Amino acid sequence: MTDPLRLPSVDRALATPAMQALADRYGHSAVATALRTEFDALRPQALAGQLSAEAIADDTLATACERRLAARFAPRLKAVFNLTGTVLHTNLGRALLPDEAVQSVMRALTAPANLEFDLATGGRGDRDDLVDEVLCELTGAEAATVVNNNAAAVLLTLSALASRKDVIVSRGELVEIGGAFRIPDIMSRAGARLVEVGTTNRTHAKDYAEAITERTALLMKVHTSNYAVTGFTKSVPEAEVAAIAHARHLPLAVDLGSGTLVDMAQWGLPKEPTVRETIAAGADLVTFSGDKLLGGPQAGLIVGRKDLIAKIKKNPLKRALRVGKLTLAALEPVLRLYLAPEHLAERLTTLRLFTRTRAQMQAQAERLLPAVQQAVAPDFDVAVAPMASQIGSGALPVDTLPSAGLRLTPREARRAGRQLARLEAALRGLPRPVIGRIADQSLWLDLRCLEVGDEAAFGNQLPALRSALAAEGKR
Ligand SMILES: *Cc1c(COP(=O)(O)O)cnc(C)c1O
Repeated sequence: MTDPLRLPSVDRALATPAMQALADRYGHSAVATALRTEFDALRPQALAGQLSAEAIADDTLATACERRLAARFAPRLKAVFNLTGTVLHTNLGRALLPDEAVQSVMRALTAPANLEFDLATGGRGDRDDLVDEVLCELTGAEAATVVNNNAAAVLLTLSALASRKDVIVSRGELVEIGGAFRIPDIMSRAGARLVEVGTTNRTHAKDYAEAITERTALLMKVHTSNYAVTGFTKSVPEAEVAAIAHARHLPLAVDLGSGTLVDMAQWGLPKEPTVRETIAAGADLVTFSGDKLLGGPQAGLIVGRKDLIAKIKKNPLKRALRVGKLTLAALEPVLRLYLAPEHLAERLTTLRLFTRTRAQMQAQAERLLPAVQQAVAPDFDVAVAPMASQIGSGALPVDTLPSAGLRLTPREARRAGRQLARLEAALRGLPRPVIGRIADQSLWLDLRCLEVGDEAAFGNQLPALRSALAAEGKR
């Protein structure tokens, strides 16, 4: 009997050439941490006298440490393939940005910029100046300001204009947006008192008019972006609410949610109210998101009357909710794309995705079919199938866009649930995870958001999918 093996000293194990090579890459301290963690994992075996020579061989330890280090240094935020069929998927980061924005962000990341520096005078500038002119041109508003997101825009607007005062909102518009944004909650956080008028399905002009008192600061309309009230319904158009507000010298604020800068109907897309129409209808302030239909970075835009915007900009919350230079660097070129609407459908990434035709996705699905079939055989049947994409992010919740993609169906109906979960997990585990959608006993891969340029990157992962399913199948 030889003595049972013991763990080597950390210093000795760190001195091997393989560990030194890791230290060159990851730094000495991280490698030492990885090694100690590895030793902690081996210690029970060592104490039990069951440590094998193999387990503590230089190469084995180096490989184990490398695995730990690679995992620790790998970014948690990964690019994925969004094949859910929802273009503006909030959990997958909403809008994808055009190349102009990418270049602009890169410059802002690596070079100083005139974020708050007036190049004409050499004096201090205002970061809103970078975009307010173009925003006013695109919306017909007098002034504009930008904050972190639309929730912040609403919070700031209410806080600046209606703190300790009443805000009148229709009961049909007390929306909840996913992720804990509820109009009544935002209202109380802003220190404003919500005065609900009308009923869930019907609100009339006189409901607004009769609710106005000397405590009223603001009338507010909220675009019911993520649901539709249908049937016996009535809501009061912006222009009428504006007239009621203005007759009493009160402003009307409209939270448009998505808010688009152009009429999407010209590309055959469902109609959404534009910011310009809302301003023209008499809204004194309009708030909307940067990363929904607009197709830009996460941001909240507030446009409207000059005096009201000035008041909003003076509120201390504005400083807390302001955007960073990366947001402005991304937003500005996106807004400028709207100055050339003829090219928008090709240059604005989100619009390009919205306007892809079913025939395009169908052709793509047919191209990918054999390779996908091979990767998931023999457990799944794969078929090219028509699908219905959604705009997403609560925009146009009832409208869908005709699409196509691949439908993967387990061969054995008996074990379908487990098979689908296994497939979904294998797709999620790929180097660039693939996110699909499970419905009707199948996994659906809607190809609307797989642009042709990305097809190869998707296809190149299929052998890895095949291996993952095979390995999983053996367990
Ligand atoms: C999406 C939405 C918001 C929240 O906007 P974020 O940019 O996600 O903060 C607020 N109001 C309405 C009506 C919305 O649709």
